[in-house]
Amino acid sequence: MANNNSKRKNRTNYPLILATVLTTAAVAGAIFLVLTALGHNDTHISDEYSNTPNQSAVSESTESKNNGSSLSEPDNSGIDETSQSYEEYIGVEYAIDITEWEQYIEPENADAYLILVNKTHPLASDYVPANMVDVVYTRKDGRATQKMVYTAEKALQAFLLEAAEYGVTDVTVTSAYRSYSKQSEIFNDNVNKNLSKFATLEECEEYVSTFSARPGTSEHQTGLVCDMHNLSSAGAAFGNTPEAKWLAQNAHRFGFIMRYAEDKTDITRIIYEPWHFRYVGRKAATEMYLSNLCLEEYLENR
Ligand SMILES: [Zn+2]
Repeated sequence: MANNNSKRKNRTNYPLILATVLTTAAVAGAIFLVLTALGHNDTHISDEYSNTPNQSAVSESTESKNNGSSLSEPDNSGIDETSQSYEEYIGVEYAIDITEWEQYIEPENADAYLILVNKTHPLASDYVPANMVDVVYTRKDGRATQKMVYTAEKALQAFLLEAAEYGVTDVTVTSAYRSYSKQSEIFNDNVNKNLSKFATLEECEEYVSTFSARPGTSEHQTGLVCDMHNLSSAGAAFGNTPEAKWLAQNAHRFGFIMRYAEDKTDITRIIYEPWHFRYVGRKAATEMYLSNLCLEEYLENR
């Protein structure tokens, strides 16, 4: 009898072991697929990531106690439940040492960076953001060094340092802060170029406002924005490049959003602009990215 019992036990255990093995394999496979889809789904540029991150790019931070795994640091008070979900669903560690940059990508006074500027929320003509600095990544082609608000510019540096680790090395900033008067100049130039196509000035201005903001309604006046790409001039074609895809998928990790998405033009009333990045801080950027919300939708539901 003892022998029979033993045999029966052995027989009943095999399916259990098999089930356990299959379940483990399935879970591991699923995790792999999720990580592949979310984090490293562009083989053209993620190949470089398999190499050891290039520490020369961040040599000033090699003495840090943190080895780039700050998202799992338990004492990081800037990380709240949103970042928990960030870690849970995105699960991509920073390739660069993020320690010195964290204060900029996740600022303490985060709400100060959620200003909404669009066709129905214009800025005053005398609005000039405080604390602007030179944009290190301004394109070196003779143009004036672009300016951005200090915190946003620092976060941008971290963003593009990380990008370089993934092989995105030729993206540069072509335009950042624009004053009200500069925007007036650009808008009026565009109106003058197109005036002959329309019966009235109003019709022409309405048309121009679909691709060139009226003064006061451009986000560039906030100092929290940059246009960056690797083309000779900005165009929707940039969105198809591996560089643009990497930027769009990783912007939130550095507090930026790709502001004018292709599927949100009815809400933003701005054409698809894969080159236009807006700083909002990592918490808001990550929430928007995970929920596929544009800034208007995010602020409305907040
Ligand atoms: Zn722009």
